[in-house]
Amino acid sequence: MITKSDTSIIEDALTPLDLEARLVWLASRFAEMGAFSSSLGIEDQVISHILFSKALPLRVFTIDTGRLFEESQSLLSLTRERYGATIEVFTPNSDNLQNYLNAHGPNAFYQSVDLRLACCHIRKVEPLKRALQGSEAWITGLRGGQSANRAGIPVAQWDPDHSLVKVNPLFDWDELSIKEYVHTHNIPINRLHGKGFPSIGCAPCTRAVAPGDNPRAGRWWWENPNKKECGLHLHSGENFSA
Ligand code: SF4
Repeated sequence: MITKSDTSIIEDALTPLDLEARLVWLASRFAEMGAFSSSLGIEDQVISHILFSKALPLRVFTIDTGRLFEESQSLLSLTRERYGATIEVFTPNSDNLQNYLNAHGPNAFYQSVDLRLACCHIRKVEPLKRALQGSEAWITGLRGGQSANRAGIPVAQWDPDHSLVKVNPLFDWDELSIKEYVHTHNIPINRLHGKGFPSIGCAPCTRAVAPGDNPRAGRWWWENPNKKECGLHLHSGENFSA
């Protein structure tokens, strides 16, 4: 069973490795007990490419919130076809979603932060919890340079909410390196990245940003910039996301 004390061992093992070697190491250490959560963003597509190309035995899953862009759905289909891969899809609990919609309406997330977080909880956080059940390692595509909230994230950290080690193998990559890797390996990415969307979430809560803007400026743009997380990467007792 994984414990918090394993975190530093994993961190020490992964830090000196390159990305491919990090994923190979994780597959060998965790195999089916490790799960990669893909939001189909450009960073996630890099990790998926390596996992699928090398047939590494780590689970890959995504969350279909029910409010995704058509472009994101198309990319999911394209990725499945390109790699012949299994990408598990988790969806919101239908009773919870129905109750929320009946109580607050379909677009209540614009009304208050609380209603927005409640929507994110039903559509993202709870499905994530189900997806990670039984896992010892949760692999993400988070990078330190994605936002102020993510600056300084480590390659591995204990996640007390899910009782597992959260691993960020791209923690030290920059945006240019990601784009070069995608270009070199002809990796399919979301068409919206070419239309001013560096960070892509649900359609009603994401808009394009101007060149040079914070990559996550288009997410929940009507809210305080310091609170722009959906709860997936917020740990209780911590004020930064990982
Ligand atoms: S991003 Fe918007 S639509 Fe998606 S779960 Fe959060 S509040 Fe709901």
